Amino acid sequence: YTRVAERQVDSVCPYCGVGCQLTYHVQGERIDRVEGRAGPANDGRLCVKGRFGFDYIHHPDRLTVPLVRRADAPKNPALLTQGPGGRTDMAAVRAQFREATWDEALALAAEGLMRVRDAQPAKGRGAAVAGFGSAKGTNEEAYLFQKLIRSAFHTHNVDHCTRLCHASSVAALMEGIGSGAVSNPLRDVAHAEFIFLIGANPAVNHPVGASWIKNAVKRGARLVLADPRRTELARHAWRTLTFQPGSDVALLNAMLYVILSEGLTDDAFIAERTQDYARLRDHILNGPEHGGEDWRPEAMAPICGIDAETIREVARAYATAPSSMILWGMGVSQHTHGTDNARCLIALAMVTGQIGRPGTGLHPLRGQNNVQGASDAGLIPMVLPDYQGVANASAREQAERLWGLPPGALDVQPGLTVVEIIDAAYDGQIRAMLIQGENPAMSDPDATHAREALARLEHLVVQDIFLTETAALADVVLPATAWPEKTGTVTNTDRTVQLGRKAVAAPGQARADAWITEQLAQRLGLPWAYGIAADGSGAEPDSGIGRVYEEMRALMPSIAGLSWRRLLQAGAVTHPVRSEDDPGQPIVFMDRFSTPSGKARLVPVGLREPAERPDAEYPLVLVTGRQLEHWHTGSMTRRSDVLDALEPAPTVSLHPATIERLGLQPGAWARITSRRGEAHVRVRADEGIQPHVAFMPFAYVEAAANLLTIAALDPVGKIAEVKYCAVRIAAH
Ligand code: SF4
Repeated sequence: YTRVAERQVDSVCPYCGVGCQLTYHVQGERIDRVEGRAGPANDGRLCVKGRFGFDYIHHPDRLTVPLVRRADAPKNPALLTQGPGGRTDMAAVRAQFREATWDEALALAAEGLMRVRDAQPAKGRGAAVAGFGSAKGTNEEAYLFQKLIRSAFHTHNVDHCTRLCHASSVAALMEGIGSGAVSNPLRDVAHAEFIFLIGANPAVNHPVGASWIKNAVKRGARLVLADPRRTELARHAWRTLTFQPGSDVALLNAMLYVILSEGLTDDAFIAERTQDYARLRDHILNGPEHGGEDWRPEAMAPICGIDAETIREVARAYATAPSSMILWGMGVSQHTHGTDNARCLIALAMVTGQIGRPGTGLHPLRGQNNVQGASDAGLIPMVLPDYQGVANASAREQAERLWGLPPGALDVQPGLTVVEIIDAAYDGQIRAMLIQGENPAMSDPDATHAREALARLEHLVVQDIFLTETAALADVVLPATAWPEKTGTVTNTDRTVQLGRKAVAAPGQARADAWITEQLAQRLGLPWAYGIAADGSGAEPDSGIGRVYEEMRALMPSIAGLSWRRLLQAGAVTHPVRSEDDPGQPIVFMDRFSTPSGKARLVPVGLREPAERPDAEYPLVLVTGRQLEHWHTGSMTRRSDVLDALEPAPTVSLHPATIERLGLQPGAWARITSRRGEAHVRVRADEGIQPHVAFMPFAYVEAAANLLTIAALDPVGKIAEVKYCAVRIAAH
């Protein structure tokens, strides 16, 4: 039977970027169950994570009191791998800390940050302090976090997980069409006749989104799945292109060659809406006889592993369908050529005019539930809120005025990005960090290096809900609220702003992240007076959080027309929403792009090798990613009973032929080794994996995939190549 809830609270799922609306059924201060609600992104549907992944908030591991590192307990990254089965020995980690009052912990946190700032008062990129905010918090928390780092430390050294997620996509989109967000919502696949899905596995990572794609196929749309792995949606695909890992540009430029050489372009669109087409055309068509590259499908087939006729067929179908939509994931973005990959996708849409109408456009599938909103709010080292470049003098002046800073307080140079900050910490330039709800000790590439860098910090303050692998290396740990314990706005992959509502009280002395940020700001000498509630409450327009939102609105034209009161009434509105009577704009770029000229910029790209190729010593390509049941670094889902029971142990997926060739057994343990580290995992057979490829999820601390990955960066997007490195695998 189903128990009748004491109360029901409407909110939004805390996991992926689809942004499903849900209702918590609550007994006392415990969530009993979760039900889907009729939101614009989900229409009542939820996946297994949304439906069952809520009990982590009641887990006994929750942080309930501030912690301070004991004077006699040196930071020790080795503790993270010394427990039974390689899992962190939490008792040993916990013993390194003593409990503190909030007053003491906040004072120590602020004093340490000020001490480092004042001892090395450089501004900008050279500052000694940096911050990682979170895409799992609210928009208001992200906004306050970047404001704190920028205001208190005069640096833009502030970033978040978008750097490891879609930074390259955003770089290409900003360059090409002047906006890093999607052009059409995910559910617009309902209007597409052709769907090109590349480098993404939505059946696992955006499951409700995948259900809309399946519906579109049932209705008659042609789905092309392009991915180095043959994943679940292949069963629904018209064509499946299982291309070689890292060969995206070869495949996409060959498609461009077909479209350009066969006259399948939309010439009127190109003339009216794009610039630099001639350069792209010359690059793609000139060929070796004119000193160019040979991009014919026949020349690219041996590189990408897709036969020329299939490339031609798919390119023609994309160009000639009445409406074609491109969706992509981190298989495209997480490469040293991630920006180039996205540039090719933009070019495909532009030369065929497949944008600006229902069922068309470009949709980079956002990973975390608020990575779009955190980016909008300015949690990026290159831009202030609403993507105003830090070099833009009037944007800086406006922020300085609104934030009560003296003229010139905001630096003109972009700050360091995630991996650059970790490198700077390792080298001793960054000496103090504030980390809110991120876990770089697990999520950053080359995790051994990242953990050592964090351990070298003179002062590390972490606010989180668990004693994560990153918090284990902190000087001060501040217990924060989980998603259902606070109220705030969140923006999904479709640019839709929704409201997350507080459903239950936080355990013990855990406090709302926004309250913690305001308290730190005041102790760092900033005149903040929002009056944010410590308990995460505040759905009213005149609440502390309501006041933060209204300040954001004053700085961000994209939400200028979306008041807190209007959001409370409407429940979901898609930005840009520039005035009170603007209904919101799910489809953008109908008549112009967001570039200064209003035209899209076409950027030709060439082939670029991955940073590390397989060789005799490390003969397999490792691709990392997620699985359906576990989320990100596993700190939440591995503490959710149902999800952990479904996927309890780390795995590496290999083709059955590879398993046999290496003398392994499905279900048995194996050792996987790269030049940077090793992990012990169970072998899983998967016929969708190519014989020279291995796939590993990165959610397991006892077998952290990022101990193996490489920290090589895309030179533009500064994203790490966690989708490609060389490994070897042997029986345990
Ligand atoms: Fe949550 Fe994403 Fe699943 Fe929806 S699809 S329930 S947002 S994890």
